[in-house]
Amino acid sequence: MSSLKSDDIAPFATRLPPMLPPDEQYNALVREIDAHNYRYYVLDDPAIDDRSFDALLRQLRDLENAHPHLRSPDSPTQRVGGEARGNATKVRHAVRMFSLDNTYSSLELAEFHRRLLDSLGTVPRFAVEPKLDGASVEVTYASGRLQLASTRGDGDIGEDITANLRTMRGIPSRIAFLGPVTLRGEVLLYRKDLEILNAERETQGEEPFANPRNAAAGSLRMLDPREVAKRPLRVLFYQLVEGPSMHTSHSESLDWLASLGLPTHRRHKVVEWSDVAAAIGEIDKARATYPFETDGAVIKVDGYRQQEILGFTSKFPRWAVAYKFQAEQAATRVRSIVVQVGRTGAVTPVAVLEPVELAGTTVSRASLHNADQIALLDVRNGDRVFIEKAGEVIPQVVRVDTAVRDGSEEPFAMPLVCPECGASLVRLEDEAATRCPNRGCAAQVKGQIVYFARRFAMDITHLGTALVSQLVDEGLVSDVADLYALTAKQIAELERMGDKSAQNVVEGIQASRQRPLHRLLCGLGIPQVGQVAAKQLAEEAGTLATLLGWSESEVREKVGSIHGFGPRMVDCVVAYAFEERSRGLLAKLDALGVGIAQPKLAVSATGPLAGLRVCVTGTLSKKRDDVFMSIRAAGGEVHDSVKKTTTHLVAGDKTGKSKLDQAKKYGTRVITEAELDALLG
Ligand code: AMP
Ligand code: ZN
Repeated sequence: MSSLKSDDIAPFATRLPPMLPPDEQYNALVREIDAHNYRYYVLDDPAIDDRSFDALLRQLRDLENAHPHLRSPDSPTQRVGGEARGNATKVRHAVRMFSLDNTYSSLELAEFHRRLLDSLGTVPRFAVEPKLDGASVEVTYASGRLQLASTRGDGDIGEDITANLRTMRGIPSRIAFLGPVTLRGEVLLYRKDLEILNAERETQGEEPFANPRNAAAGSLRMLDPREVAKRPLRVLFYQLVEGPSMHTSHSESLDWLASLGLPTHRRHKVVEWSDVAAAIGEIDKARATYPFETDGAVIKVDGYRQQEILGFTSKFPRWAVAYKFQAEQAATRVRSIVVQVGRTGAVTPVAVLEPVELAGTTVSRASLHNADQIALLDVRNGDRVFIEKAGEVIPQVVRVDTAVRDGSEEPFAMPLVCPECGASLVRLEDEAATRCPNRGCAAQVKGQIVYFARRFAMDITHLGTALVSQLVDEGLVSDVADLYALTAKQIAELERMGDKSAQNVVEGIQASRQRPLHRLLCGLGIPQVGQVAAKQLAEEAGTLATLLGWSESEVREKVGSIHGFGPRMVDCVVAYAFEERSRGLLAKLDALGVGIAQPKLAVSATGPLAGLRVCVTGTLSKKRDDVFMSIRAAGGEVHDSVKKTTTHLVAGDKTGKSKLDQAKKYGTRVITEAELDALLG
């Protein structure tokens, strides 16, 4: 395997002598940061700790502040994403972005080889590499800098996604080669990153992504790079389309790209035809250990001269072929199709299956997503189906074996009423999901309690799904507050519960009284309020009683002033705080004394910023939240936007023009971060 060793990459710039002219100092620093990013994001082998890295970044930022002409959109300081774009700009690919011919068997592979021999007359060597499962992109560097990135689109014309690509951490902002370089690669998410992203989405009440490919493709098309920057996307290059002419083979180019610090998959192997099958087998065996999903191997004729002779069909290169791995599949029968009601009321159809082994686990249920998906697959009760687990978190039904139907299979229709509570289901026009609108629905209550008990929320040990279900069905609890009144005796009387385990449950519940308010607010599952927002909300309110004491306009004002809370979030908080059922729940929890008051920030009324009302714009060297904290701790008030009463506007890098305009209009003093630091003492 021709993977790179970490010392193959460009040597790090040594500490910079201060007498270098600023632009040289700047370029050396950018190169050093790029090299560290490469080790961190591509080689997974960081050479320095996070703090030292941050220090380098700060050095760069200081230089940019001192010499603003040095700052550019591709600077490593700008990774948080620039302004949102409007409609996507189209990009025409200089060379068509072909797809790959697929093969599934050694027979088809032998056929590919025979065609090559016919055309070439000689025996080529092959590069065998993983087929990365993401979304393809084309990237151009010129004068050593990232210039353009585009999606594949229809192969000839794609969309400009340059700003989105710049947010991806493994992408170097500079490369040491100055000529034009055009590359193709795959944007993807590592499995572990998808897990984190999905967990975060869940706390926000958003659908998790089914697999890394969907997550990557969806993210790429987003119009706001700042949103893209929040997703842990990576790009791995697999092809050089235009570059220096000294390369004679694909594998040589890949090694060259890696030597420039460009992220590549680093898992290609160059072999004779006789070893191709073994190389494919190796990838198949190893792919479970790769950090990303791999759905096949790509076999490419390595020599460029030979690639040229072979050329392209209208759709594919003749010199490459993809060998698709069998996704692990199993055949089984649908016993019934049921619907499941989640904590938000979303109704999901689920196939109940005859249990079957798949990829090491026994599967007895598979998601059918929604009514549209069922119609598409035409799955019926009693059907023989194939299920698959290919990078997907939950097994999916992929195909129905219609040939073996005997007429007894029954088509499925979405129920009109909730199977749990009988409420009429609703389907909003712009939503694929069907929902039960009854907030008191037993299924929703169960889901809410399970969510409340989860690790990131109230962390109640020993309270599992089955027990929650029993508690609700027995009428012992009808909301999360009821948990706190449960006795060990009540629980011990339930089926399958002993005295000892009942005691453990009660202890777990009582211990959760001591969780800070933000964990409680997060556990309530208020739409749009995830872990971060819950923390800010808790800090603003301090206690549940305070929150309950606010009038609607006060909630709007206080919550609206929290940094990052847009109108939709404010609406959700208001709706939750004033809807009868949820308001009742808040009052109940307050009366029970659950959740410790969030220590209000110790604000000094006589601090150096007392009486000042400060707004912040642009990127500062410190985290925004930390800056807000220090402003408030010093007695200042933080304004989310520049108002008439705002006294100071702190302008960092890449300031928003509208805030500066407002400041001018109101005569607000504009100061730098350094001046703020001076004020803070
Ligand atoms: P398909 O979309 O199935 O026609 O496959 C073609 C796509 O596979 C290309 O557009 C690339 O985005 C993607 N691909 C993933 N890994 C590789 C690789 N190692 N070499 C070439 N293409 C790849
Ligand atoms: Zn219901």
